[in-house]
Formats: sequence, C-alpha cells, structure tokens
Amino acid sequence: MFERKLMFAAAVLSCSVSASTAQAALKVMTTTEDLAALTREVGGDKITVESIAKGYQNPHFVEAKPSFILKLHSANLLIVVGRDLEIGWLPPLLQQSRNEKIQPGSAGYLDASLTVKILDIPTGQVTRAMGDVHPYGNPHYWLDPGNGRRIAQAIQAKLAALQPVDAAYFAQRFADFDKRLADAEKRWDASLLPFKGTKIVTYHRSWPNFAERFGLDVMGYVEPKPGIPPSPQHTLDLIAEMKKVKATVILVEPYFDLKTPQSIARETGGKVLVLSPSVGGEKVVTDYIGLFDYDVNLLLAALKGDK
Ligand SMILES: [Zn+2]
Repeated sequence: MFERKLMFAAAVLSCSVSASTAQAALKVMTTTEDLAALTREVGGDKITVESIAKGYQNPHFVEAKPSFILKLHSANLLIVVGRDLEIGWLPPLLQQSRNEKIQPGSAGYLDASLTVKILDIPTGQVTRAMGDVHPYGNPHYWLDPGNGRRIAQAIQAKLAALQPVDAAYFAQRFADFDKRLADAEKRWDASLLPFKGTKIVTYHRSWPNFAERFGLDVMGYVEPKPGIPPSPQHTLDLIAEMKKVKATVILVEPYFDLKTPQSIARETGGKVLVLSPSVGGEKVVTDYIGLFDYDVNLLLAALKGDK
C-alpha cells in the first residue's frame, strides 16, 4: 500500500514537473498574425505565441476584446507593428493588463518597426488631419520580405535576451528561415520580373513596400486618404487617370467593400483582385512565406491575363 502511494506521489510529481516545464516556455503575444508567424519561425517549440488581431481584420480597427487583457497579463513579451497602427485599440488592453514587463520601454516590449525600412514618412508636420491613419510612415511594412527578415532577426535577438538558455536554438531557427525566405524571394522575383513597372491601383495604402520590392508602380488609391472612405469625385478622378495610364488591376484587402472597386473596374475594363495583406487573411495563408506565395500567384495570374 505504502509502495503504491509512493508511486502515485512520483507520478504526480513527474506530472507537475512536466507542467512547469511547459509553463516555462516564453509566452509571447503579438498584435498581428504576421508578427505571430515570424515569432513562430524563430521561437519554435520554446515559446507559445498568440495574435490579438486576426489576419482577415483591418489592423487599424480591431475590437479590443477583454479576453486579451488576461492573456497580456501573463505574457513575457509583446510584439507590436508600431507607427500608431494599433493606436485605436491596443493602449486600453495594455493598460488594463497591469503587466509591467510588456509596457512600452520595458524589456518585454518589442516595436518591430524600429529595425525595418519604413516608407511614406511624412516630411511636414505630423498630423492626423482628415483622419489619416498613417501619421508616422506606412505601417504595412511587413509586406516586403526584406522587412520580414529584419523583423525575424529583431525577434531572434529579443527571444535570446529573454531566454538566453535557448539562444543557439533561436539563432539556428532564424538561419533556417532566412535561407528558406531567400530561396522563395528568388522565385517571386523571377516570376514578377516581366511585369516590372506595371501600374496598379490599391484600395488602402497597404502595399507600398510590396510594390517597391517587386517593381510595381502604385498609381492611385480607391481611398482618397488612408482610412478615408472613397468619395464620388475622387473615384471619378481615379477612373480618368487609370484610363490615361492604362492601369487595370485594383488590389483590395479582404475587409473592404467591393462595390466601389467593382464599379471602377467596370468603367476602366479592369479587374478587382482581393489579395491577403496578412497571414490568416485567407484560410490557406498560414505562414509568412505562404503569404507571398498566395499574393504573388494571384497577382501573376491577373497580370498574365492582361498580356
Ligand atoms: Zn493602413
């Protein structure tokens, strides 16, 4: 009987040991699924990661669900896109999390925009006049794979600092991701090369980094300004300009109404293309490299159809 009790105690002990080992995995929260995907590439099974926003949501306007307060409370690291992308919904969650470790400026807070290439930085006075949601440069910078690499590297450094015992593991995971990304970039570059300089239209200014990286020319936007819905006059001007320069492809993010883009396409003989601006934007897009595979393939099919 005593022996059985001992065995039971040993079993309980080993359970609690494995439970505490599991709990010891670094708990990472990210604001977007792209950052979560990059964290997963580097962190592997030494971390757990969850994103607050889903890839099919407009990242400027996310519902601040109270359930995230508890998750942020127990997080070791919070990774944000920054440049005010999350200004409308993250601050109250972060404040109510009462977690000192992940507040801006703390060791467990990583602003991914600090080490990447940022476009559209305003030259004049920074203002949110007319509701412009990009006051500190374009926050959709993850849509350049070069920036994805830079983000992953910053994540590697941060994870290593917070969990030095796994530093070599994180470095190895980053090196592996870096190589797979470089191979994929060669593939994307080669397939889009024949379409260099093609003029396209996008709904929101989500794609400047993508366009610059792959040599596309964004000649206009369905939104008059980032975050401002289309107006009749702006739409007419855009149609006239598209006809003039013979632009036909209109990229739209999954969370925008297709009515205006479709009427523009009808007027110009163009086509509307719903691309995924984020991991999770479409069900099949489950990781960072898969995001570009998905978008590049759809874009190629549309551009080839034009030729
Ligand atoms: Zn935006």
